[in-house]
Amino acid sequence: MSSEKTYTGSCLCGSIKFELKNVSESRMTCYCIDCRKGSGHLGQILAMYMKDDISITDEDSNMREWIVSSTQSGYPKRKLFCSKCGCTIATIPMKYNGQKLIVRTSLLDSDFEKFVPKKRIFEPVKADFVGCAEGTF
Ligand SMILES: [Zn+2]
Ligand SMILES: [Zn+2]
Repeated sequence: MSSEKTYTGSCLCGSIKFELKNVSESRMTCYCIDCRKGSGHLGQILAMYMKDDISITDEDSNMREWIVSSTQSGYPKRKLFCSKCGCTIATIPMKYNGQKLIVRTSLLDSDFEKFVPKKRIFEPVKADFVGCAEGTF
């Protein structure tokens, strides 16, 4: 018996959809400058998945990629986004050879509350006015 569950999400215009297998244990809020600029917000809420545990459907071939080459890890990051609505879907850090994808959990259609971030990363570059009380993100 399998307790596997799938969760769906999409970009803003809905032309790119994705399906996640189970709730990843690797969930975070990232405050790095790339996430800040890429999202237009204070940071991004994310979850890391092995590439086999996420499937992306892009029926109208709207997905494009932007390669972030100057990264802290020294490895480029492939940022996947929708060319129709501009929404970022996921990032592929080449540090893991393309085996892992970091998906934006803010794009989930439902069950959003199951994806509470477990840690904050790049907190030192977070703006001082962004308050993070204990237990919140
Ligand atoms: Zn879109
Ligand atoms: Zn980031």
